[in-house]
Order: sequence, then structure tokens, then C-alpha cells
Amino acid sequence: MDARLSRRRVLALGSGLVVAGVATALGLTGARRCNQNPTAGGASTATPQAGPTPTPSPIATPAPTRPETTSPTPTAMPTAVPATPTPTTSRPQWTLEVLRQPVSSGPADRPLVALTIDDGWSSRDAVLSVLQNKDVHATFFLTGRALVGDSGFIARALAAGCEIGNHTMDHYTLTDKSKAYIQKDLQDFEDLVRSVVPLATTKPYMRPSGGSLNATVIDAAADAGYRPILWSVSAGDGSATTTPDEMTQNVLGGARPGAIILLHFGPRAVVALPGIIDGLRARKLEPVTVTVLFGGAG
Ligand SMILES: [Zn+2]
Repeated sequence: MDARLSRRRVLALGSGLVVAGVATALGLTGARRCNQNPTAGGASTATPQAGPTPTPSPIATPAPTRPETTSPTPTAMPTAVPATPTPTTSRPQWTLEVLRQPVSSGPADRPLVALTIDDGWSSRDAVLSVLQNKDVHATFFLTGRALVGDSGFIARALAAGCEIGNHTMDHYTLTDKSKAYIQKDLQDFEDLVRSVVPLATTKPYMRPSGGSLNATVIDAAADAGYRPILWSVSAGDGSATTTPDEMTQNVLGGARPGAIILLHFGPRAVVALPGIIDGLRARKLEPVTVTVLFGGAG
């Protein structure tokens, strides 16, 4: 209890101190809005049919300024940063000291749990459909190797309001790797995400393969702007024999306010997720992203 309180105090302190600086450093990006055209491949400029032409008018209209958005900006965003879409998330601005503290659950003072889904080897769009049907935004810890041939999923996930954390490019156990290797593995995946959606970022969330951490991994991640995000409740689907029913029982049996729930993309998740989401809600627990669990806007 003491530890939790003091951690929260550190969080609050940290976010107060470094908002502007770190926000800028992180690029303060985020998901595209769900209601924007949900086509894949966010990098290409889709042409709206009859929209305003991008050519500047000869008269003195302030062409490059952003059109006024209707949504209120909830927190103090650095006004000078993104030229294009307004970020829809405000991620925690953790200090280096906090980044060095791996975390497996969030604040327990609200009826929220973070739903995190890992890897992405299969059933990516089927999982996304379940989440969209249930109006749930989750955090995906995707690994680059799982997305070979389908990096457009990054854009589809962000367009659906989900967020993406960094599960490394190659998904190797990191505890026997050098700091330089770990940072490159994280950067490679960050680069992949940004190659698909230039304003997106995975920071400040990383999850090491298997949850394996040591001092080198923690140090490498923190220095690169990442905090290790572990979990407090696992569906148990790391084991090939766990059934969807067992996954549901595992999650609902362990879920409590502040929990970080772990599942993996795959056919079993597609079957289990509707019952998991309904069961959480029946327990008055709303599944949200890691950002929302830690107090940001999703
Ligand atoms: Zn994994």
C-alpha cells in the first residue's frame, strides 16, 4: 500500500515536472481518430472527393494553419508541435526515474483495467473486429516480425483507436543481449510504426519478450524513453493447451481495478474476448488502454 501510494506520488510529481520537455521529445503523437477514413496505409495521402484544395489561395487566408477542431483539448498540449492531426491521446510523461520502474498494474482508484494484446502472429483483424464491436480500445504490444507483409495493420489498429506499444522488432529474449542491441531492437520497431503512420509512436511503453527483464534491459529501455509494462493478470494463452473458456476464467478470476491484462493475438483470443469484455463489464470494470489506465485521455 505504501509502495503504491508513493509510486503514485512519484507519477504525479513526474508528470507535473516535465510535461513540455518530454512531450516534445516524444513527438507527442497518438492514434488517428476513429472517425477519420479508416483505410490502411496512413502514409499515403488519400484525396477527399470534393474537399478544399490544398493549393494556397492568392488572398491572405492563413492557409497553413490547422482548421479548428471541434474537440476540446483536455490537457496542456505544446502548441508548437504537430502540424497535422491533433493527437488523441495524452500519454504519461514519465521521468527517467519512473521509466526505470517496471510496472505490472496501474492505479487502482478507478474501475478500469488495461487490456493488452501481444505479438500479432495471427487473427489480427479478427481481434480488432471484436474490439470494435464491443467499443473497446486496447493496447497492442506488437512485434515487428509478426507484421511482415501486413504492416498496414498498424494503421488499422490506430484508426480503430487502439494504441501500440513496443514489443521489439525481433521478439528475442532480451536478458542476454547488450544495451546497444536492445535499443536498436526497440528503435527498429518504432521506425516501422512511424514508417506506416508518421505521427505515431510506441513510447513510453515497451514489453520485453516473455516479460524477461534485468538491469541492462531496464536501463536500455529507460534511456530510450520506455518503461517496461508487464501484467498482473494473464489469460494463460502462452500455453498452447489453454482453452478460450479457461482464458476467460483466468482473466475474470484475476481482474480487479488497476489490473493490466495480457492476452495474445490468435484464434483463441477471438473466441474468448467477447466473454472477457462482457464479464469485465458485469464486474463494473471497463477495459481501456494503458494510457487511459494511467490517467491519460484515450
Ligand atoms: Zn510476445
